[in-house]
Amino acid sequence: MAVACKHFSVGTGMDMSRTPFILLVNPWITDFAAHDLWTKPMGLLILASLLRNGGCGVALVDCLDRHDPFTNAHPDVLPGHDKKFGTGKYPRMRIPKPEPLFEMPRFYYRHGIHPESFRKKLRCTGSPDLICIGSTMTYWYPGLRETVAVLREEFPGVPVWLGGIYATLCPEHAARFGGADRIIPGPVAGFPDLLKSQTGFDLTNRADWAGFRNWPPPALDLMPGRDYAPILTGVGCPYRCPYCASGRLQPRRERLGPERIYEEIARGHAELGICDFAFYDDALLLDARGTLWPALERIVKEGLPVRFHVPNALHIRALSRDWCDLLFASGFRTLRLGLETTLDSKSREWGGKVDTEMFLAGLGNLFAAGFDGSRIGVYLLCGLPGQTPEEVGRAVEFVRERGVRPHIAEYSPIPGTPMWKQAVECSRYDIAGEPLFHNNSFFACRRPDFTYEDMLALKKLARMP
Ligand code: SF4
Repeated sequence: MAVACKHFSVGTGMDMSRTPFILLVNPWITDFAAHDLWTKPMGLLILASLLRNGGCGVALVDCLDRHDPFTNAHPDVLPGHDKKFGTGKYPRMRIPKPEPLFEMPRFYYRHGIHPESFRKKLRCTGSPDLICIGSTMTYWYPGLRETVAVLREEFPGVPVWLGGIYATLCPEHAARFGGADRIIPGPVAGFPDLLKSQTGFDLTNRADWAGFRNWPPPALDLMPGRDYAPILTGVGCPYRCPYCASGRLQPRRERLGPERIYEEIARGHAELGICDFAFYDDALLLDARGTLWPALERIVKEGLPVRFHVPNALHIRALSRDWCDLLFASGFRTLRLGLETTLDSKSREWGGKVDTEMFLAGLGNLFAAGFDGSRIGVYLLCGLPGQTPEEVGRAVEFVRERGVRPHIAEYSPIPGTPMWKQAVECSRYDIAGEPLFHNNSFFACRRPDFTYEDMLALKKLARMP
């Protein structure tokens, strides 16, 4: 059975009077700025598939729907707009800045649909048996809390479970301030037991929950917008860079096989008309000759008219000439490279995933394959404990001189990473107690020898043509 509603769809293969109906919610973002740079709620979409395949009724309400007509026509809303390849700007409403961020000389917004539209969508779904809400950045918790508050008003007494990155990295804070009844940190393997204890319902696909390779494709059909689709061919990363949470969020490395990768892309294109796909992998090209490689070869052979984007950086060490040729031939359009620094001593200190020689070789291979510099952005970390503004400035110039675009990645301290302790010691703000200070725009690790003004100047330098 599939029930269509104007804003979402509900799909279930079983009698709704006997099976639980679960509402999945992608919450609002609260921040100074937020852009949809290929940011779909992948975790919720996979959870939706797992629940639906296991016999539950599911619906998804996406508070970040950029194309909601009510919201974009509302006089109190700064409307969203579209950019290239499915990206865009979220509609937003100015809201009071949280007290800890008062000193930031910028306006603060709730990004996403108008609250009235959110309530309308909720009323359209009907009352669920359980609500699951996702989370991403730790410093977006006020938006999450506000989302939960509306859910409580609309569906009093319905349990709300919170999962995702914030719930995993800051479970205690999330338990106190997230507003949910239950925090689900980490992987979903234990979910079927929790669901059974909550609803008495035994999912029919328990084995599918065990690990990434068993998970079904994300429920792309539930997305309100089809501008692009997220795709995840593997989880985990073999590196353990001290500033990154990858190892904490996905400790095991697992990859999908080539048939499954190809099928997901081909079906997304054929059935939903999607042309732009964004890879969400942390280590897309590493050890991928038996997985992603054959899938891309097949895409080339069959002439699928699709485009690929890599918002998470590629590993530069993987950019051999043959990989670059295949990326170009199969339709990769937006590339981001994780260089992070041009000081090789620092690169070694941060885990040794790349050095400048590798960068120059990889870039040469990309150019030889046919990519031009406008398609290539290079991430440079900025403001980490122990870094100086001068070294970042030199890295910006070095990258620009190679004909590609530097992208400043402002340091955001992340709980549980190896660098966290150093960040706590170096910051004059209570980053351990207040996740709002993790906001990269706020730059909580500012210090006399690397000031907030230094950060702004480096961002300006990187943006210069
Ligand atoms: S290589 Fe990238 S994904 Fe892997 S740990 Fe380092 S920063 Fe994280």
